[in-house]
Amino acid sequence: MKAQPTASHFINGRYVEDKAGAEMPVYYPATGEVIAVVHEATPAIIDQALSSAKAAQAQWAAMSGTERGRILRRAADIMRARNHDLSVLETLDTGKPYQETSVVDATSGADALEYFGGLAGSLTGQHIRLPDGNWAYTIREALGVCVGIGAWNYPTQIACWKGAPALACGNAMVFKPSETTPLCALKVAEILHEAGLPAGLYNVIQGRGGVGAPLVADARVNKVSLTGSVPTGRKVYAAAADGMKHVTMELGGKSPLIIFDDADLESAVSGAILGNFYSSGQVCSNGTRVFVQKGIKQAFLARLSERLQNALIGDPMDPATNFGPMVSEGQLQIVLNYIAKGQDEGARLVCGGQRLDKPGYWITPAVFADVTDSMAIAREEIFGPVMSVLDFDTEAEALARANDTEFGLAAGVFTNDLQRAHRVAEGFEAGTCYINTYNDAPVEVPFGGSKMSGVGRENSAAAIEHYSQLKSVFVRMGALEAPF
Ligand code: NAD
Repeated sequence: MKAQPTASHFINGRYVEDKAGAEMPVYYPATGEVIAVVHEATPAIIDQALSSAKAAQAQWAAMSGTERGRILRRAADIMRARNHDLSVLETLDTGKPYQETSVVDATSGADALEYFGGLAGSLTGQHIRLPDGNWAYTIREALGVCVGIGAWNYPTQIACWKGAPALACGNAMVFKPSETTPLCALKVAEILHEAGLPAGLYNVIQGRGGVGAPLVADARVNKVSLTGSVPTGRKVYAAAADGMKHVTMELGGKSPLIIFDDADLESAVSGAILGNFYSSGQVCSNGTRVFVQKGIKQAFLARLSERLQNALIGDPMDPATNFGPMVSEGQLQIVLNYIAKGQDEGARLVCGGQRLDKPGYWITPAVFADVTDSMAIAREEIFGPVMSVLDFDTEAEALARANDTEFGLAAGVFTNDLQRAHRVAEGFEAGTCYINTYNDAPVEVPFGGSKMSGVGRENSAAAIEHYSQLKSVFVRMGALEAPF
């Protein structure tokens, strides 16, 4: 299987290669075979991408929002028309099963392009009436050149969630995908230009952290949007602060999912499965600390074990497969280490957690019961298919323990008590909360974290605030007096 792109980078409206950059092999996670080799951006490539973005941005911002939006909406249509091919590429890049990628990745990217394309024409300032006939108005301006840096779990979606609002607001973007999944963002760039995006406005360059860092530090850059881990977020936020750059930080989590005795058992099990094993557990907002009230615990674990028998682990391209491999050998080793640590710390491994004896990065979905709050598997982000089940007695206790974490990305509650559901959602210290559901992320709703899980929001009209700034203009209608 091969998925070699035309070239490593996409700059100023065309593919660009520079073999002086270090090689980055791309592995198909289902087999471990090398399906492509791209090269890291050299300083010359980084400069070329930033110069192109800088040169193209002002003219793009001067176009009407409706014109900009039309291009984004055209790109959304092309993405939908090519959904199959893009989904196959997403599966090759990440290993996620086609059953998921065909309904989640290019489609979610297209939703973002369509949504922000639709908003572009209505981005305006305000008129503000002041005393004595005076007034002020605000102008909503683009920020300039935005840098997007992606994680490896949703490469198409991340490229679009950052690109669409940036472009709608009149910015240019230089996007650096994760070194683990460099392929999909190139297709996003290709499609945007095919839809009529002028050259230079959406550039993709490859590389590891050593390419991300100079992008963040460059004086031509006005905004940085990162999707990644908390340690990387700390570094990128600090580097951006030096140049007083705008930031959006979509970082990691260790989110709680509270299941009360009165919950609908089947739905609660579905929520726990979706919130732990979708994309083989490689989802930032996953509810990996599952607090189950003692009265329902045995029934919950029994039904969960039964339902996990339906996990179909196999060829990710087979539409029946619903559980794929981990993205890389490195990520698989991290997960295996946590499984060993959980057992050492005295948690009970109810099922799963075994590496499959075949090429690729395969592991069975794991459930730990009798987990306590202080165990590493309950405190640290694993980013793999490992569910920790913790017991609780009362609502107050569950909420306090749920919030006892440095993270604040997401949180969920399953209960049939209407008032309790909203009370608990109100009490959660998290940016994205779910009642009787888990991991929904439609483009119309703000998405993002609190505490160490990030700053800023993606999706929805809220994202516009993070890709534009307001200029206030004061207007005096009469003569102006001064003390002397
Ligand atoms: P990572 O932090 O290792 O890398 C993220 C990106 O940052 C990569 O593109 C990497 O090359 C780049 N990078 C690394 N060091 C850098 C530096 N010094 N300067 C600039 N860029 C640098 O994360 P990952 O392993 O790719 O992804 C997994 C993490 O992402 C998890 O913590 C997960 O929770 C998080 N994530 C968050 C969201 C969200 O929306 N909140 C979504 C997906 C993933």
